[in-house]
Amino acid sequence: MKQFACGSVVPGCTATFEGPTEDAILAQVAEHAKADHGMESVPNEVVEQVRQNITG
Ligand SMILES: [Zn+2]
Repeated sequence: MKQFACGSVVPGCTATFEGPTEDAILAQVAEHAKADHGMESVPNEVVEQVRQNITG
């Protein structure tokens, strides 16, 4: 199971995600970014940062 902590990209955010693949996590992160960070879409550079911080 792969894991990602939003706080590793957005300091102070305590949301964490887990899923079987990077894409599954990125889908959850996209929804979270929109709902909690007001990002209508996730820029490629942020997607890269997320990928680099996924563990597991
Ligand atoms: Zn967050």
